[in-house]
Amino acid sequence: MTVLRERSGSWSIASCAVAASCLIVCKSAQVGNPPPQERRIQRTVAFPDALANAYAAGTRNPDGSPGPDYWQLQVNYVIHATLDPATSVVTASESIVLHNPSGHILDAVRMRFDQNLFRQDAASRMDIPNHTGGMVVTALSIDGVEIPVPTGPETNRRFPLPEPLAPADSSLIDVEWYFEVPRDDRSSSLRMGRWADSVYQVAQWYPRVAVYDDLMGWDSAAYDGVWEFYNNFGRFEVFVDVPVEWLVGATGVLLSDPRTDASERHVWHFVADTVSDFAWAASDRYEWQVASADIPGRGEIPVHLLQTAASTASYPSLGEEVSRYLEVYSQRLIPYPFPSFTVVEGPELGMEYPGLIMSNGDGPLAHEVAHQWFPMTVGSDETRVTFMDEGFATAMPSLLSSSRGDGEPGPARLQRQYGPPTRFASFPALLPADDPDSQMTSYWKPQHMLRMLGGVVGDSVMWSAIGDYAGAWKFKHPSPWDLMAFVGNAVERDLGWFWHYWLFTHAWVEGSIVGVEPNPQGGIVTVRQDGDMPSPIVLAIQCAPGGGPARLSGPGHVLDESTVVVTRPVDLWFPGARELTFALDIGCQIARVTWDPARRFPDQDACDNVWPRGSKPVFVREWPPGAWVDAELGCG
Ligand SMILES: [Zn+2]
Repeated sequence: MTVLRERSGSWSIASCAVAASCLIVCKSAQVGNPPPQERRIQRTVAFPDALANAYAAGTRNPDGSPGPDYWQLQVNYVIHATLDPATSVVTASESIVLHNPSGHILDAVRMRFDQNLFRQDAASRMDIPNHTGGMVVTALSIDGVEIPVPTGPETNRRFPLPEPLAPADSSLIDVEWYFEVPRDDRSSSLRMGRWADSVYQVAQWYPRVAVYDDLMGWDSAAYDGVWEFYNNFGRFEVFVDVPVEWLVGATGVLLSDPRTDASERHVWHFVADTVSDFAWAASDRYEWQVASADIPGRGEIPVHLLQTAASTASYPSLGEEVSRYLEVYSQRLIPYPFPSFTVVEGPELGMEYPGLIMSNGDGPLAHEVAHQWFPMTVGSDETRVTFMDEGFATAMPSLLSSSRGDGEPGPARLQRQYGPPTRFASFPALLPADDPDSQMTSYWKPQHMLRMLGGVVGDSVMWSAIGDYAGAWKFKHPSPWDLMAFVGNAVERDLGWFWHYWLFTHAWVEGSIVGVEPNPQGGIVTVRQDGDMPSPIVLAIQCAPGGGPARLSGPGHVLDESTVVVTRPVDLWFPGARELTFALDIGCQIARVTWDPARRFPDQDACDNVWPRGSKPVFVREWPPGAWVDAELGCG
């Protein structure tokens, strides 16, 4: 009965809305036909049933925050591992406690065996220099019942449970296995590997429980070497047994005193309370240095550097740089959440794990540190949605006034690279990065998306919203729709149009100045957008020599005596025109106009962004803040 009443209530609301919109149409019909729409602006995003179901179940809120009944698997590991440098084999055993808070009865569990990627017969898209036998499982039991061990090359397998796992109950999974750490002397980006028999970076190394979530159930995706990971959060207690003279660095806090006994081997004991993964590295060639980072609200944390002698000598500032990145990101977003940070050298020179990165300081260090927030803290599904971690990690170095080796294109280059006429942007960013140019789709396009968002809502407002989003989803699994809703709510804007064009299409803006008719108080300016994506109107306008001082009679800001930036909201495009004309009063005759002086909006043809054509454009560096300059367009 209650349901019926609610339904009739919502019907009457719907009828009101229909009647109101009919009135508007009838009214405009009386005063003449509306102008033809030259461009239809889409203002809402496509919305999957899974989200509607999650809202109904209370696991997620329509405002983009986790719901009152949000749940995720809790998976805790105790792992004992032994490294034998003579054979480069890691032999290990683990006990996994899988806790089921889902409210569903689970009749099976999915487990991942990522090391199988390195088998000769694996379905791999990674260029593998030296194959191994993969992950050789020698014993597997679930709740005390022995299960036949998997022998194929699969990286993700389903195992029926001996007894269904009830809500709020736990299963115990015990596994024994071994694998050879793949040799990679040429740094082939395997996300792990070894140099000969002396430097080991170990990751994707333990059989793990796949994610089961409220949106898609079990994650059945295979690890093919291109896609990254979607992991459960849980507690790791890991014992690593190595020759006594070796050093070990890992995710988590070291509990044992290293190398205190007199035997030939030593066991390093690490604990990490809430992490989504655990990686480690070991070598007899490492030098161990310790720096520290001052994390707001937490105080000093140790930053461990495990580097070979050559890297220690060539990057003496490594600890200082890493600490600065941890501190600045903590100040701008949320405090770095882990009790220590470790940088380990080896064949992989740019890969992130919780509390640990594989790097020698060369390469995009600021980017790898940024991954501690996305996805190590905010546990998005990296397998299916790459922009939520790679895009943010590519944009975050802009929070630093400078960083070494970011490797990202500057604003002007970024602005021109993106758009259908190039080979880039062949896929919308929301689609999986199964893309001939995933560099653009996963890294640069979302970086540019955030540059534009900063241009729409303000950079400080945007980063503050992203920090709030990180806090709300800390150690949880947000979907892209949660991100869109959360940020839109946090900045108090309807950003449906923005997310639609950036994440569901490869549209671009392509703004231009059609013409200017100067007059003594300013002039009449006509602007145009040829792309499908709208943007706010942002114009740098300069007075003719001797005129001024320039002033504003609407939104914008004054750059100096003779230059103002005039802004008008994106909403002006929503009725569908491609050209808009403004009478601008700036207190002097207009001499020069630049469209999008901060170069925030994707634009293939920069030559039509200035009036008079051929004049130098103004470039305003807004983030990180800087002065405005006369710049080259790089056109024609
Ligand atoms: Zn990355």
